[in-house]
Amino acid sequence: MKQENAKTNGKVFLVGAGPGDVGLITVRGRDLLSQAEVVVYDYLASRRLLAVVPAGAELIYVGKQAGRHSLSQDKINHLLVDKALQGKRVVRLKGGDPYVFGRGGEEALELAKAGIAFEVVPGVTAAVAAAAYAGIPVTHRDLASDFALITGHEDAQRTGESQIDWPSLGKWKGTLAFYMGVKNLRLNCDRLMENGMSPERSAAVIEWGTTTRQQTVMGTVGTIAEVAEAAAIKAPAIVLIGEVVKLREQLQWFEKRPLFGKRIVVTRARAQASELAERLEQLGAEVLECPTIRVEQPDDVAALEKAAAQVGQFDWLILTSVNGVDAFFDALLVAGFDARQLGGVKVCTIGPATAARLHGYGVVADLLPGRFVAESILEAFAEMEQVKGKRILLARADIARSDLPEGLRELGAEVSEVTAYRTVADESGQEEFLEALEADKVDWITFTSSSTVRNFLGMIDLGKLSGKKFRVGSIGPVTSAIIKKSGLRLDVEAAEYTIGGLVEAIVSTSND
Ligand code: SAH
Repeated sequence: MKQENAKTNGKVFLVGAGPGDVGLITVRGRDLLSQAEVVVYDYLASRRLLAVVPAGAELIYVGKQAGRHSLSQDKINHLLVDKALQGKRVVRLKGGDPYVFGRGGEEALELAKAGIAFEVVPGVTAAVAAAAYAGIPVTHRDLASDFALITGHEDAQRTGESQIDWPSLGKWKGTLAFYMGVKNLRLNCDRLMENGMSPERSAAVIEWGTTTRQQTVMGTVGTIAEVAEAAAIKAPAIVLIGEVVKLREQLQWFEKRPLFGKRIVVTRARAQASELAERLEQLGAEVLECPTIRVEQPDDVAALEKAAAQVGQFDWLILTSVNGVDAFFDALLVAGFDARQLGGVKVCTIGPATAARLHGYGVVADLLPGRFVAESILEAFAEMEQVKGKRILLARADIARSDLPEGLRELGAEVSEVTAYRTVADESGQEEFLEALEADKVDWITFTSSSTVRNFLGMIDLGKLSGKKFRVGSIGPVTSAIIKKSGLRLDVEAAEYTIGGLVEAIVSTSND
């Protein structure tokens, strides 16, 4: 159907979400998600992909978990047509590739029939991706010159007789990949053997491939059904059969990453969690975000704006966190000024992340104390010759400790304090965390500041934490002190008090 003949301005994009790892969606697919007005997604399309969907877009979950269909295929088809007829830009997000066993073909036919414009964005299909992440190349010059994708769950009642050419598959020399093949694994292996396949041929099953839950079992056509059953393998899983499976022994990488299979809790505010979460995930961990606080504007925004506007009257500006830097420069811009207002003002930050954020606003920190704790700012100022009479503006959180301003005043400085941002409680990750904790599936809890420790223990009952296997990682001595004081056992402290240092500390002790 040509677009000019379409009955509506609405359009449907059938987009492949990839196999699970959120990094495996295409650039085109993600762009379309970021412009969608309606997103219709199913069980196999990772919810995390939806983070780029504009606020206000309609998100419709249509399920399709084996045996638990939330919406019938007919209804999904009608939904797509209806939304497009309303003039909407609709993304139909489907696991893997939309046209590989996803019934995407049926959805497209329905759209064509209704005269709705559509486009298809291919995706990385599960068999290829799960194999690669398990260390199995699906073809290989010496071992497999052909590769077949087969449904392992043929709807025989629908077709009357098998449409699968079992006699050919029994003689297949290359690689076979069965989708939806867990339930009928034994039956399908029997069929292959009945049609001449050697029971000795190598086989593997990969569950939740490319995700932090990936699990791979190996065997032969004769044994794999039993092996998979013993390991309680469930859908979604890909069954791979062929000599290439043997290469896994040498080529496996994904499951060998240092934190693979570890469930790690990040207690930072969601807005700040991404760096730590991404680093942990890149090393194979499954990250559970359990934020305790959220950053909001201060009650008195006008005071912050005024302080920012008048920053030129100070000798020093001290910013102690990334949030503080953002809040300060936002206020400066809102007040009608920019970084030039800082002119001759010297700036002191604490820690490399804060300095890096400041750099992003075109300002290089004049003072960056060696250790990344508030005390080291005091030490650095104490070493300066002329602190007496210096005017210092301190822009921090509403709950920041008073040691720093008091210490600076003792040195003779004139200190003005302004609240740059406010922290409020956030309980959005609590349920998921408690569920994992109850099942004793938490491997690490990480703390990146003393306030997160306090807030975390204000939210989670200490009694619930006792007797569980998790370990505790701290970003530095101030945080560690609070952890110990509050009765939690501390397992590691970062040698360098940064996110990178914390990750390093966890990696180095994780497999002890
Ligand atoms: N369109 C999808 C396939 C949908 S059919 C694609 O191209 O990948 C659903 C089947 O895909 C599941 O039963 C399972 O066999 C397979 N599958 C999907 N995601 C998977 C994953 N992450 N790991 C292993 N198999 C997966």
